[in-house]
Amino acid sequence: MPADPYQVLGVERTASEAEVKKAFRRLARELHPDVNDHDPDAEEKFKAAAEAYEILSDPERRRTYDAFGHEGLRTGGWSPGAGGFGNVEDMLSSLFGRGDSIFGDLFGFGRGGRPAAGGDVAAEVEISLAEVVSGAHRQVSFEAVSTCEHCRGNGAEPGTPIRTCATCGGAGRVQQTRRTAFGQLVQTSACPTCQGAGKVPEQPCERCGGGGRELRERTWDVDIPPGIESGQRIRISGGGHAGEPGGPIGDLYVLVRVAEDERFERQGRDLLTVVSVPATRAMLGGSLAVPTLDGEREVEIPAGAQPGQSIRLAGLGLPSLRGRGRGDQYVLVEVTVPGKLTRAQRDLIERLDAELAESDKGRFRRRRRG
Ligand SMILES: [Zn+2]
Ligand SMILES: [Zn+2]
Repeated sequence: MPADPYQVLGVERTASEAEVKKAFRRLARELHPDVNDHDPDAEEKFKAAAEAYEILSDPERRRTYDAFGHEGLRTGGWSPGAGGFGNVEDMLSSLFGRGDSIFGDLFGFGRGGRPAAGGDVAAEVEISLAEVVSGAHRQVSFEAVSTCEHCRGNGAEPGTPIRTCATCGGAGRVQQTRRTAFGQLVQTSACPTCQGAGKVPEQPCERCGGGGRELRERTWDVDIPPGIESGQRIRISGGGHAGEPGGPIGDLYVLVRVAEDERFERQGRDLLTVVSVPATRAMLGGSLAVPTLDGEREVEIPAGAQPGQSIRLAGLGLPSLRGRGRGDQYVLVEVTVPGKLTRAQRDLIERLDAELAESDKGRFRRRRRG
């Protein structure tokens, strides 16, 4: 008669998924045959707990058990241990995660026996819109974990001997064959004495304490390609923190900000510049000096230019990261109406108004949409 999984794990029938997980985790730690050698039944109990967990951690399986008991599970084709228990390491790591320190340390697979990689570093630079056209070059400085300059990373005070690690014989890894509830299991993990280095300094480096690493100011030359968008990041492989001895270096991520420019609005590869001209100038047309990223350009406003009309300056926009050529700059005409008039100006406008009134009495209509 198989045991009631709720009883085995010691949880209520109403226990949540988290409670079930917590209960199994506690039992697994207590009963795992690798750590429990004082209870002769530990292996059997561990097996029972694992089976109970296998039932209660799966919502569908748990519902079947609640309604029909073990008989229901067997009818449904389920048998304990048939599914995911082929590899006990996979099962435990999927349950608890490889990063779980207690389980990692306990069962020795937390780091897979490899020295840890260095972390990533983030830096930020600001460039101008003109530099989006030309591309830019910046030096970024930051503090990063680096190889210790005093011992060159080997962790020993210079001039003192480094001995081969006695625990692992220089391999940096230890292999253990363990008898578990699921048969023999060969585990490889980083050597606890030398942390995977294979060597142990007789006299640890005074500067880094034997770790082989120290925090140092680092400067990196960063090339910013033309066409970059504000907020994009450039990844520099190997520009980050140093890892554990033998582990890979992290990356440097440079966040690029493009400074706002009052004169230009960026629309992808195109630029938009609003130019305000008085109503009379819009009527008469004329040339106007307009700022571009390539210097001022004389732009011809056609006679009778309408509010919202735009004039295209081909090729004066921005490049794109991929592809050739540049976008365009658009000059958007905004027509302004002078507010206060002098007597002389008013006389002139009244004469113009009288002339225009002959041909245009004003028309009424709904506002156009879109
Ligand atoms: Zn050092
Ligand atoms: Zn060792």
